[in-house]
Amino acid sequence: MTVLVVGGGIGGLAAALGLARTGRRVTVLEAAPAFEEIGAGIQVGPNGFRMLDALGVGAVVRSRAVHVDELRLRCGVTGWQVAGLPVDDGFRARFGTYAVVHRDDVLAPLLDACRSDERIDLRVDSGVAAYAQDADGVAAVLRSGELVHGQALIGADGLRSAVRRQLVGDGDPQVSGHTTFRAVIPARNVPHSLKENVVTLWAGPRYHVVWYVIAGGRYVNLVATADNGASEPVNGKPVGHADVMRHFAPLCDDAARVMELADEWRAWVLCDRAPITNWQDQRVVLLGDAAHPVLQYAAQGACQALEDAVCLSSVFDPRDVLGSFARYAALRSERAARVHHASRWMGREIYHPAGEAALARDAMFASWTVADLHERLEWLYG
Ligand SMILES: Cc1cc2nc3c(=O)[nH]c(=O)nc-3n(C[C@H](O)[C@H](O)[C@H](O)COP(=O)(O)OP(=O)(O)OC[C@H]3O[C@@H](n4cnc5c(N)ncnc54)[C@H](O)[C@@H]3O)c2cc1C
Repeated sequence: MTVLVVGGGIGGLAAALGLARTGRRVTVLEAAPAFEEIGAGIQVGPNGFRMLDALGVGAVVRSRAVHVDELRLRCGVTGWQVAGLPVDDGFRARFGTYAVVHRDDVLAPLLDACRSDERIDLRVDSGVAAYAQDADGVAAVLRSGELVHGQALIGADGLRSAVRRQLVGDGDPQVSGHTTFRAVIPARNVPHSLKENVVTLWAGPRYHVVWYVIAGGRYVNLVATADNGASEPVNGKPVGHADVMRHFAPLCDDAARVMELADEWRAWVLCDRAPITNWQDQRVVLLGDAAHPVLQYAAQGACQALEDAVCLSSVFDPRDVLGSFARYAALRSERAARVHHASRWMGREIYHPAGEAALARDAMFASWTVADLHERLEWLYG
């Protein structure tokens, strides 16, 4: 009566932990030789922290997180502050913790908790090529040809999910035309005047740059995204400094100084997929990026994967796998679709507009109080 989880990223490990905590036996099948995340940062909103709490790892993630004071939107051209959302006591009283974390400081606590639960079997070097099922159970077909049997299978294998390929058959993810360049900078290299305990986002014409401290203050995470019409998927390719900078002009002094601090850049061409509701094929269901990959603009992909994991483990009933998966998909798909649309809207209307459209954005923010911002965030964080 084992549940198979394909993929050991944040979503897969969270699902394994959630299911084990409700008494299920779980086997995680991870393609890579180790469970690891890329060495970059992630923003975790209050909805994400509530899920980590539900899984019993919220306290340890909080202890490793950087608790920022504000989320700040600045004009990338002039440096002028367009908007600020204090992440203070008022915010926390209403929504809970908002913090920035090294990705590994989310994954490692989930992994440690999985390792110390005897109901969870963690397997690496176990890439899944396909699945097969009948009325009694399901088998994951590994790339090696080995079959791993279980009662149910969760496809948490990310953006290019093999499980989704078989279940939905909707081909490759959609290339957004936006390229993200990431760098992690030792904090000791950052001048004091640029060190603020905030998430800063500079929004310019067809680009934006996000910058915040991670890993207990040891590193600064820099994510610079350009709407440059990129047409081919790229996944973590090393790229030279000059090749990055040519996408980001004109750039205000502070943003330029921040960008100049980075010397090792990697590029990703961002992809998402249009929302779908068919997440289930009988004993098989999708979770996290495999079900609903989004652009990162609402900083919600991992948070949504965590929500999926907690939702799925709370509705899972081993006596009714098909019904459990149907309930989970019905509970989750509309919200995931809303996050998808919100993420695209933020890129288009908030992060990348130029000229008149940028002025309209600024006027919109100028007309909103902090209470108005809270109201607009209620559906997501509340
Ligand atoms: C630039 C950028 C910034 C982001 N910032 C944020 C943020 O601030 N906040 C936030 O919440 N989200 C953010 N996200 C989104 C977040 O990273 C993802 O949504 C999240 O990691 C998805 O988790 P997952 O477990 O579903 O998939 P993944 O993390 O992709 O994990 C999938 C796992 O499955 C494994 N796998 C793949 N194929 C197979 C196979 N066939 N068999 C077995 N195993 C397989 C992979 O090796 C991997 O370990 C960002 C994304 C990007 C690109």
